[in-house]
Amino acid sequence: MDNFMFHNPTKLIFGRDTLQSLKAEIPQYGSRVLVTYGGGSIKRNGIYDQAMKLLAEMDAQVFELSGIEPNPRLSSVHKGIALCKEEKIDFILAIGGGSVIDATKAIAAGARYEGDIWEIITKKETAKQALPFGTVLTLAATGSEMNAGSVITNWETQEKIGWGAPCVYPQFSILDPSHTFSVPKDQTIYGIVDMMSHALEHYFSGSPHTPYNERMVEGLLTTVMETAPHALANLEDYESRETLLFCGTMALNGVINQGMNGDWATHSIEHAVSAVYDIPHGGGLAIIFPNWIRYNLDVTEAKMKQLAIRVFGVDPASKTDREIAEEGIDRLRQFWSEIGAPSRLADYDIDDKHLTEMAEKAAPSGKVGRFASCSTEDVEKILTMCL
Ligand code: NAP
Ligand code: FE
Repeated sequence: MDNFMFHNPTKLIFGRDTLQSLKAEIPQYGSRVLVTYGGGSIKRNGIYDQAMKLLAEMDAQVFELSGIEPNPRLSSVHKGIALCKEEKIDFILAIGGGSVIDATKAIAAGARYEGDIWEIITKKETAKQALPFGTVLTLAATGSEMNAGSVITNWETQEKIGWGAPCVYPQFSILDPSHTFSVPKDQTIYGIVDMMSHALEHYFSGSPHTPYNERMVEGLLTTVMETAPHALANLEDYESRETLLFCGTMALNGVINQGMNGDWATHSIEHAVSAVYDIPHGGGLAIIFPNWIRYNLDVTEAKMKQLAIRVFGVDPASKTDREIAEEGIDRLRQFWSEIGAPSRLADYDIDDKHLTEMAEKAAPSGKVGRFASCSTEDVEKILTMCL
């Protein structure tokens, strides 16, 4: 394994009827609370009303920032920072999916920073402090509820950038599986692809001797693949939603990848596509990941072979390593297609017009990926395979 240090300070509050723990958690940070949320799903499914009732019972003074976009934009982050500074906010409560949580992280850091938060997102500066915030997660996907990462889109410059800092771990995250019952089928599918992609990013790692970590990743992938059809057949099946919610968090809270240095080129390529075309993150990953593995088979073959046998049920008898790995990629593709995830950029009406531009955005230094280092030319070829 690579040397590692593990410290995850987020308090995870998981299970039925856990929303009421807001009353025990929030008052210790102050009474002026900014509630951040998206386009209104929390009003339709009743979580907004329940949270507001609890905030009223704790005599909180509530401010609101609504309308945070999927693929959250810098403009919303700026609005939130201005609100925090003007209203002297003590604590932010993010209610929503990864987009609301990611925007809230940037707002929390920006509220305690003199300059423009874009300097921190673009890594010219590091966030040293942030307003405390907590989350009520409503969609199983990103793991943002228990990590210190955030992805923000600057629509003016068409850049979608991931950044992070230890000061933006949520203080707590409340995960009630029933809060995800109303997630529509397409978003449920994107979430399944995203959590599986996080697991795959970890797995394609060059770190030596990581047998337990690999088994943890394989266990997560197997569990998600067994659960996905049940969740999609009955969106209100508590146990399936529970499993997906837990797997989404565990896929990217640092536990399963300790000592492993994953690749992450696929995420960079997806961010470049989303920056230009604003497509859903999980949709983009479903198109790109199998093509990334296939393009890099000289490097990915051994790991893909292992996955093919252990997770995708490929029978290795009388097959070459390359054939086993390729069959594994086919089965990953088949699984994602069967659950309804897109397989080609054409599914989003994306043609070859901006491939070079997207490749440059994915690999701004000329190289991307820690396991299979890809040049901008490589990325352009992978994107061509995705058309
Ligand atoms: P999302 O963008 O937060 O939400 C997608 C859609 O689902 C929104 O339209 C939202 O509606 C709706 N929704 C959320 N919860 C719902 C519910 N309970 N019922 C009905 N509709 C619901 O999706 P996400 O996949 O969680 O986040 C994607 C973003 O996270 C991308 O920008 C991606 O790049 C980023 N990301 C971050 C990390 C990280 O570690 N920080 C990792 C991977 C990806 P409303 O707006 O109306 O609520
Ligand atoms: Fe992701």
